[in-house]
Amino acid sequence: MFRPLRILLSNDDGIQAPGLFLLKQALERAGHAVFVCAPEKPRSACSHAITLHKPLRASEYGFSDGTTGFAVSGNPADCVVLGLDDLVGPVDLVVSGVNHGPNLGWDVIYSGTVAAAMEAVILGFPGIAVSTASYAPRPCYETAARVVAERVVAGFLARGLPHATLLNVNVPDLSYDALRGVRVTVQGERHYKDRMEKRIDPNGRPYYWIGGQIDERETADDTDLAAVNSGFVSVTPIDLDLTNRAFLPDLAGWGL
Ligand code: MN
Repeated sequence: MFRPLRILLSNDDGIQAPGLFLLKQALERAGHAVFVCAPEKPRSACSHAITLHKPLRASEYGFSDGTTGFAVSGNPADCVVLGLDDLVGPVDLVVSGVNHGPNLGWDVIYSGTVAAAMEAVILGFPGIAVSTASYAPRPCYETAARVVAERVVAGFLARGLPHATLLNVNVPDLSYDALRGVRVTVQGERHYKDRMEKRIDPNGRPYYWIGGQIDERETADDTDLAAVNSGFVSVTPIDLDLTNRAFLPDLAGWGL
């Protein structure tokens, strides 16, 4: 049943991020060949931006275990294009992460981590995005890495993924043994309060800071948010088609 996969690994926290290196190690321990192609600098919340108006450069980066990867002067989606088309070539799977911080609900829209997996899907390769659901300075990346390497990738190996679909995995910041299990989930909603802060600079001019607090509203039990909040790993299948099919008949009735 087991066969070693060729895996392209990327992220949006940059090639020096501990989450990437620990995921690389976990995937290699599981017997896979891992090729890293990641942004040279942190690029969180850049979503699916690609670089069109300036050249991209790739340079060799040395990991502490003596292996190397490619550090790219672009965004996560750029890394996946370069990796698959030139630097690494075709692979069996693209994995992105482990991201520092959750990618839950509507936040998936902003995520560079998810965008890397999405770019893989657009190019015809299966993709998995992985995040640890914690902004703690040093979350337990090892748990997320192990969940993906030993369970999610193993599941993918056995069953494959459907067309135009990636998996978005969020792992609670717990030790592996403290996890309550794995739940297959749907995307929840993500609302913010106090999204924008307006301040005045020393010259009396306003400036703005986007951030805000997450507004934890009640969400259904089957969501990614609910799973992670109750100590379960959340695995959500994400479809690239954003069409609201249920609304099609109504919209057709508008008589536009
Ligand atoms: Mn990030």
